Amino acid sequence: MAQKNQPERKILIVYTGGTIGMVQDSATGALSPFRFEGLLEAMPGLKSLDISISSYCFPHLIDSSDMGPEGWVHIGKVIEENYDSYDGFVVLHGTDTMAYTASALSFMLENLAKPVILTGSQLPIGVLRSDGKANLVNALEMAASVDEEGRPKVREVCVCFGDSLFRGNRITKFSAESFTAFLSANFPALARVGVHVKWNPMLEQDARTLVREPFRVWKTLESHVLILKIHPGMTPSVLRSLLENTDLKGLVLGTYGSGNAPTSEAFVEALSVARTRRIPVLNVTQCAEGSVEMGKYAASTQLRDLGVVDGKDLTTEAAVTKMMYLLGKGLDYEAVCKALGQDLRGEMTCR
Ligand code: ASP
Repeated sequence: MAQKNQPERKILIVYTGGTIGMVQDSATGALSPFRFEGLLEAMPGLKSLDISISSYCFPHLIDSSDMGPEGWVHIGKVIEENYDSYDGFVVLHGTDTMAYTASALSFMLENLAKPVILTGSQLPIGVLRSDGKANLVNALEMAASVDEEGRPKVREVCVCFGDSLFRGNRITKFSAESFTAFLSANFPALARVGVHVKWNPMLEQDARTLVREPFRVWKTLESHVLILKIHPGMTPSVLRSLLENTDLKGLVLGTYGSGNAPTSEAFVEALSVARTRRIPVLNVTQCAEGSVEMGKYAASTQLRDLGVVDGKDLTTEAAVTKMMYLLGKGLDYEAVCKALGQDLRGEMTCR
């Protein structure tokens, strides 16, 4: 994929942990992270790629269950410090929370004009049948790919996994079993990997990613937020007590179908505490595919009247990280609600 007349591309691998580099503890049988050199030893063929590869390793490799705002800022700082020295970045990360990290980075990396591609695997790279080797090679080659004018083909945060390159803030982990672990139900893949790599022409047409402002990393995130999936039988008093918790700064509400929720007076009254306390509430659907359309059913008009923001086709992962990012900017309630409903990084479809 790297074009012949182009100078060798320089890619920095940021290794955070995850199954891709794990080994089995002989005593307990549990998988735990392994050193980076072991990962490269398992792939001597990497040297034959037409890419200059360097690496940065987290001081403590983690299972991605332990990833969060602190880790996202750490990744962001590594990219910021090395931004001018590299043509692209490949982040090795566990699959469990990869969709959250990719979404968070998509907001935090402002005016990004280079590829940041996350990948990992379902089986450790040292295992013969591992999906890690193909995922890593594909991610590196995609990060090194350029268009006819020598610009990086990818100029956003993506996830390369299985046979696809996805926009990072559009995916959800849907399988703990399959090598195609991620689903991007509301947005097409940016590339498909088979015998050939088929790029989606939309990548080149996306003028938004031809940024002219200087790159910077936003590092303050508000983590006092909550995802709450409503369910039949949810007790309004429990909802009320959550909303009365003074630590709470933002709520992502997982609703039914096209954004519907109970209409009882008790439920509406409990939810109204959010507006009184100026806590932004973002409505996302519990369905894997499709969009919130507040006002389509009577069962969502009450939410609109309470100032709940229509999350359209946002994934839950993108919704909660967008909330953390906007609240972290120190914006007031009205400004956060307004920005939540706007497309900032291609994360939602606004018709
Ligand atoms: N528990 C692992 C992690 O997310 C799973 C994986 O990498 O696939 O770190």
